[in-house]
Amino acid sequence: MRLRDEKLLPIWEKVQGGERLTLEDGLALYRTPDIIGLGKMAHHVQKVRSGDAVYFVLNQKIEHTNVCVLSCKFCDFAAKKGSARAYEMTTQEILERLTPDIKEVHITGGMPADWPWERYLDIVESIHRHLPDADVKAFTAVEIDFFHKKFKMSIEEVLRQLKAAGVRTMPGGGAEVFSERVRKLLFNQKIGAKGWLEVHKTAHRLGIPTNSTMLYGHVETLEERLVHMIKLREVQDETGGFLTFIPLAFQPGETGIKPSHRYTSAIDDLKTIAISRLMLDNFPHIKAYWVMLTEEVASIALNFGADDMDGTVGGEKIAHDAGALSPMALKKDQIIRIIRDAGKIPVERDVYYNPLRLHADHVIGKIPYLNSIAYHAHLHAPHHKILPVIPRRMGLLSEQGMIDGGLFSVMSFVQQSDQLESLGYGLASRDQVRSVMLFSKEGWRDLEGKRIGIIDDTATSVRLLRILLEKRYNVTAHFERLHSGVNDLSGLDAVLLIGDEALHHQKTGLPGFDLVYDLASEWYEWQKLPFVFAVWAVKKNLSEEMKDELRKALVDSLQKSSEDYWSIASAHARRLKLTKPETVDYLEGFTYCLGEREREAISRFAEMVEELEKAQ
Ligand code: SF4
Repeated sequence: MRLRDEKLLPIWEKVQGGERLTLEDGLALYRTPDIIGLGKMAHHVQKVRSGDAVYFVLNQKIEHTNVCVLSCKFCDFAAKKGSARAYEMTTQEILERLTPDIKEVHITGGMPADWPWERYLDIVESIHRHLPDADVKAFTAVEIDFFHKKFKMSIEEVLRQLKAAGVRTMPGGGAEVFSERVRKLLFNQKIGAKGWLEVHKTAHRLGIPTNSTMLYGHVETLEERLVHMIKLREVQDETGGFLTFIPLAFQPGETGIKPSHRYTSAIDDLKTIAISRLMLDNFPHIKAYWVMLTEEVASIALNFGADDMDGTVGGEKIAHDAGALSPMALKKDQIIRIIRDAGKIPVERDVYYNPLRLHADHVIGKIPYLNSIAYHAHLHAPHHKILPVIPRRMGLLSEQGMIDGGLFSVMSFVQQSDQLESLGYGLASRDQVRSVMLFSKEGWRDLEGKRIGIIDDTATSVRLLRILLEKRYNVTAHFERLHSGVNDLSGLDAVLLIGDEALHHQKTGLPGFDLVYDLASEWYEWQKLPFVFAVWAVKKNLSEEMKDELRKALVDSLQKSSEDYWSIASAHARRLKLTKPETVDYLEGFTYCLGEREREAISRFAEMVEELEKAQ
């Protein structure tokens, strides 16, 4: 990569080596005149994490009331009860805003003194009943803290009741900037960094993933922005519960904040997006929130580190009351066009970032775990775009004809054998795999009738676990589906994890679950066969030229990766808490080219699945 500012060179080396950036690095990035170099570095990280995907959701913003007991200086939205601008929506009025295509209902608003707790629960429950296919993302940490104080319940109890009512995730608003200096100046009645982070940590512990934000472009300093990012990064190390980071460009409105009575510049917006991507190395997504950035800047941000465009929004007041220059809503077609114009795949998603629909042709899926990195670390497939997708979702997208190929879970490959053709490669363990693990409180034979949490990512590993339990150990347990990311594990007797999460916990342990079983080792000891987890397959009706091109690209990537395991290990070992030798050892433990024994293993597994399904 050509960089014009030589101060960026050591930072680029750190980024490539998977090293964490410091506050000083962040300042050098903010101060660089080489904005294109900065953008390219962030885009590199974005591509490694998200391939060519840019996510959006069909969502509806609900600001149920603007009546608020607080008076933050920068806020143009809030009104006092009885004033001409004040409004309060009934549950019925809220439901009338929702159309059947909506997949996410995003609720935030003011904090009126006289609403009872039941009114909030009723809003969430009614939305859940009215639109069962949509998920509710509701209430900022500031609102949660308000409920906790007003209704005299612990933060945990507030969140438990909201979760039971149907809240799936939480928005990231109210963080502003984690600086006591700024808090005293602009929002001294609101919770500060400690309180905001505590609410989010509690939500993560209860299995509610959350978003995070940073309001920038007012009176904060660059150091304060970077401290904000570093604090979020530390909590993410601890909990892993943040889904996305959303830099919110300050809208000047009519507030009395001087001399910041101006919009942020596009350069500052793009730098902040890019620097967020580089600093927040443990965040899955960075959002270009078009409502505050405008569609034009958001579009450029998709090549500056952002992989998330929020959604259609369907009418937004908070930023528009403060003078936002964007439209009140965008149509789905407009979002798709913006993403396509940036050269990316428009990916319609749910609240957990699971892809529901792709709006692009010629897409191949990559499993976003270290175990499949040899296939994509050096992949050059000039006619295809790349979508990172967990194995179970890859199968679902393939059923709908949305992807040309990828590394399919063996279960999806078997189930779709009339449509998929193997390219002769896959992912098989010779004995242990270390990334498909059962963490348990009980030994195998004591799991009879017990509750086992199953991470949503997997179709094959769930079948393998069931086969081991029922056919090898003669035990029947209850499976409960968990979603990818944070979950409330209390009450479970065992948990099945796969991929990087399993790899990480097989090293560090999973608190409360002392027994650890490697499912591939169990299978090997029993069947004396390797276990094939995935098969690289393409649509049968893909042209022969495309199949050849992909096969050659895979062979080439496998070859180059095998010569490069140590630099791959350098980039990934730290985040997985592995040493470099452990990482290399892990990568070398797989069989990629599927031979006779692997084909026999697939047939044996498929027969057992069939027997099991017939018996049910
Ligand atoms: S920013 Fe939020 S808490 Fe502050 S006055 Fe506005 S609505 Fe109320």
